[in-house]
Amino acid sequence: TLSDRLAATFKTLRGKTRLSDADIDATAREIRVALLEADVNLAVVRDFVARVRERAKSAELSGALNPSQQIIKIVDEELVGILGGETRTIRFAKNPPTVIMLAGLQGAGKTTLAGKLARWLKGQGHSPLLVAADLQRPNAVNQLQVVGQRAGVQVFAPEPGNGVGDPVDVAKRSIEEANRRLFDVVVVDTAGRLGIDADLMQQAADIRDAVDPDEVLFVVDAMIGQDAVNTANAFAEGVGFDGVVLTKLDGDARGGAALSIARVTGKPIMFASNGEALTEFDVFHPDRMASRILGMGDVLTLIEQAEKTFDAEQSAKAAAKLSSKEGRDFGLADFLQQMQMVRKMGPLSKIFGMLPGMGDFKDQIANIDEREVDRLEAIIHSMTPAERDDPKIIDGSRRARIAKGAGVQVSDVNGLVNRFFEARKMMSSLAGGKMPGMPGIPGM
Ligand code: GDP
Ligand code: MG
Repeated sequence: TLSDRLAATFKTLRGKTRLSDADIDATAREIRVALLEADVNLAVVRDFVARVRERAKSAELSGALNPSQQIIKIVDEELVGILGGETRTIRFAKNPPTVIMLAGLQGAGKTTLAGKLARWLKGQGHSPLLVAADLQRPNAVNQLQVVGQRAGVQVFAPEPGNGVGDPVDVAKRSIEEANRRLFDVVVVDTAGRLGIDADLMQQAADIRDAVDPDEVLFVVDAMIGQDAVNTANAFAEGVGFDGVVLTKLDGDARGGAALSIARVTGKPIMFASNGEALTEFDVFHPDRMASRILGMGDVLTLIEQAEKTFDAEQSAKAAAKLSSKEGRDFGLADFLQQMQMVRKMGPLSKIFGMLPGMGDFKDQIANIDEREVDRLEAIIHSMTPAERDDPKIIDGSRRARIAKGAGVQVSDVNGLVNRFFEARKMMSSLAGGKMPGMPGIPGM
């Protein structure tokens, strides 16, 4: 996946505070390969990589994020942008009925979707009418009737025994029916063939002209990957559509088709279908699909939290103190402040669990004791300002007093002071005090 590929390049970014051209080139290469592996259209990949590269070059260095986190953030933002940014669903007509027409290849999942949409619409308080305008296959009308029954909605179909019937005529009459019986949404199911052909397009265009739809939805099987682009272009030209529905997402973990179609058509993906059952359906969330493609949902959450919690000024001060000789200016009060900043992001075990590469340490993570941190805080609070500024002055009698004040053993105070000196030595030896892994927080 994209995240696996990026993780490999990110190893080389460890500890860096600035991205070189070579870093950006290496990262861009990995993104390119990962997207091609996910069956994203080549033109879309090129365009995407160029944009990420451009932004990475001119990236403002955010104090809250390390270079790899910055790249993840840029990639994620670009993905979300292409996928449409915000969720967009049906625009209902001012004067009902709202007419929704489904178009797409045979087997794309239109008839199944008609049922899902009807169920979803009903759940929102609408009264939908399904229309069987696929008279191509012998069983198509019956299939829609079964689906309608399951969804608990009415189906409008040609009267049996009249021969094949005319789909355009059925579609036209369905609107009159909806007006008469006060259905406020009409969903028109249409025929599709296995390939794109002129007859099919013409029929779909005729139905469109007959019902004047508020939304034409292009229904496409996500599993066809690259081919989705050609099909989408053909339907855009032949019928035109307002939105896209991706089906069979349960069969394609990579999400390549979503990216290609969204980019090439410029139309919003409105719904996602991920199974045969009527309930396996949802409005499309660009941000969720982006993190699925990126494969880094948890890291993104962490980045978001880090940016929200991060106090740039405070961290800059801490870093400056750490770069004093042997980090002598960095006292226990600063140590405590840094610790509190991290804690604001959430339970420590959760934060560590979200860091990439921490999977190997699952057991240790589960054992991080939040009370231990509370104890450290209590000890530091029992010290005088002078002791916090210069812990070297903490002698035996001071230790006893501090331990008593914090309700801990003298050995706990010793432990804290020793650990502080060790940590300060290590942090100050890292210029700028920035460790890889934790977002911009010295010493984590
Ligand atoms: P249509 O020809 O476009 O009307 O497609 P259908 O609705 O008849 O669906 C074709 C096949 O795909 C049927 O067997 C459906 O059960 C199946 N199908 C539809 N949507 C999904 C989906 O989201 N996931 C899976 N796994 N199968 C689906
Ligand atoms: Mg069908």
